[in-house]
Amino acid sequence: MNLFPPLGRDVNARGQYCGHSPADTPDTDCKNPAAWHIMWTTDADTGLACNQHLAQARRFVFLDSHPIGPDCVMPGTHWDFDAKRCVVPDGPAVETAVVELPTTA
Ligand SMILES: [Zn+2]
Ligand SMILES: [Zn+2]
Repeated sequence: MNLFPPLGRDVNARGQYCGHSPADTPDTDCKNPAAWHIMWTTDADTGLACNQHLAQARRFVFLDSHPIGPDCVMPGTHWDFDAKRCVVPDGPAVETAVVELPTTA
């Protein structure tokens, strides 16, 4: 008997790096691992930031942010504003947890 839940493949945010890049070229890319997930706009424009660059990001207007979690980098993930995390749509209780993004005219 298998007592352990099926956890699926081993996916986490490790290996994801901060998106800060002052000149927007690979040479200026931040080499720190991402610690924060940022929702920049209502168009679901999201980014990744390390602790240091979250402080810089806070100088700008953005909608929301949360610490990087295991589902943040999963394909098709949904941003959950209330729970401050990302959720994968076929996960449990997502229908009640996910907030629809407002549509912009
Ligand atoms: Zn950084
Ligand atoms: Zn996230």
